Amino acid sequence: MQVVKPGKILINNEWCEAQSGKRFDVINPATEQKITDVAEGDSADVDRAVKAARQAFEKGPWKTMSARERGRILNRVALLLDKHKEEFAELETLNNGKPIHETRNADLPLSIETFEYYAGLADKIHGDTIPVNGNFFNYTLREPAGVVGQIIPWNFPLLMAAWKLGPALATGCTVILKPAEQTPLTALKLGEILVEAGLPAGVVNIVPGFGPTAGAAIVSHPEVDKVAFTGSTEVGKIVMQLAGSNLKRVSMELGGKAPNIVFADSDIDAAVNGAMRGIFFNQGEVCCAGSRLFLEEKIHDDFLSKLKSRVEKMVVGNPLDPKTQMGAQVSEEQFRKILGYVEKGKKEGATVITGGVPAQPKGYFVKPTILEGVNNNMTVAREEIFGPVVCAIPFKNHENLVHQANDTVYGLSAGIWTRDIGKAHRLAKEIKAGTIWVNCYNCFDAASPFGGFKQSGFGRELGKYALELYTQVKSVWVSLD
Ligand code: NAP
Ligand code: MG
Repeated sequence: MQVVKPGKILINNEWCEAQSGKRFDVINPATEQKITDVAEGDSADVDRAVKAARQAFEKGPWKTMSARERGRILNRVALLLDKHKEEFAELETLNNGKPIHETRNADLPLSIETFEYYAGLADKIHGDTIPVNGNFFNYTLREPAGVVGQIIPWNFPLLMAAWKLGPALATGCTVILKPAEQTPLTALKLGEILVEAGLPAGVVNIVPGFGPTAGAAIVSHPEVDKVAFTGSTEVGKIVMQLAGSNLKRVSMELGGKAPNIVFADSDIDAAVNGAMRGIFFNQGEVCCAGSRLFLEEKIHDDFLSKLKSRVEKMVVGNPLDPKTQMGAQVSEEQFRKILGYVEKGKKEGATVITGGVPAQPKGYFVKPTILEGVNNNMTVAREEIFGPVVCAIPFKNHENLVHQANDTVYGLSAGIWTRDIGKAHRLAKEIKAGTIWVNCYNCFDAASPFGGFKQSGFGRELGKYALELYTQVKSVWVSLD
């Protein structure tokens, strides 16, 4: 097994222990064994990190550097990440449990392209000139939001760090990043690359630790100007309250309960693939997972029997084996939570047609699971399971479908499978969600925005939209008299 060195906190481009001296263990979810341990940051470390970020924002070379030079540094980050992509892929798989096939083909390329994309955008951020009434010259400046706190989850540890850091750095902000307690390793390794790429001291500070201590300290710190959060809706609500203390700007990327909708007129084999990709990618630990599979009544039985036979052939197991299609859930807590939802589903009347049990005696593996006979009011259709459990829900007609698809507190994404292009576009407008995939699922690109409607959050990450999160507009009036 890969030997992973103990992790430290990154402040001012220096690696340090927590002031308390505490450390916490990082576990490999596929073996239940300790990988290494990491310094446990808390409010004292966060305070030092915020001071470093403030100093770097107000006085450091980051502020005076040209936007193009910032872009060059981001580009070096992308190149270094590319150079070390195999080490990152293995480390991510070791820590998170996701299959190496996915870290190599999704997490790493998407992380690299995110830095490339924002490297290219850095020198294209500018204001407007506005033709106001009277004898004035009015223009806007687009200035960085300031010191930014970024809190990320464990499901895409490196990729979420890239989504957060890319736009924040392109705009000239400085950052305190807290990775999730379960998966701090790739974010810390990314810290090494940021330093090597030439990022000035204090621009990115990385404080591993726990949510209620390190996370809450970032969110309530009076010197933090903006918080970007990805995680559960439940914690998102706490974060918003804490951030209210000094009216920090916040952006939220929260949970989902996406409808993945299959019409009888779709290419059924493609839709079966899409249903699999929708729910089993990353063991279902995906905020935009297609967890509610709406099937038009007349194809319901056929579709499920095709899906079931495909699912039963899936290779579940050692995440480091390139043939593995589904790895381990991230933690024992998550593993138990998922199995608990399956039991709840059964109690409320759903039938497990495949899976629903652990896949191996050791490690947090859950068999890919299909629940049949789910209705949209059951707990399994309303709450985010965050695991490889798809809930099949039959539908009769368009109206009945739209009502059910939107009958959720979430609104992150949706999938639509049909050959009728008019129907696809109509539905794309009717569904209340931030991303709609037509005849595809779980597609991402650094250039295309991602984010939620309703309790799935607000603000858009990726693309030029993310620049809104990290900049503020200043209007300058000059009298021409
Ligand atoms: P979470 O508890 O919402 O954690 C997300 C991040 O917030 C982590 O870094 C977490 O720290 C931090 N945090 C927790 N409490 C905080 C507080 N009081 N103040 C500031 N930060 C705080 O999510 P999770 O524990 O990783 O997973 C729980 C559930 O969240 C999952 O079952 C799933 O439903 C959902 N989830 C959603 C997404 C998404 O992308 N939408 C991603 C992952 C999880 P810790 O690391 O110490 O928890
Ligand atoms: Mg947590």
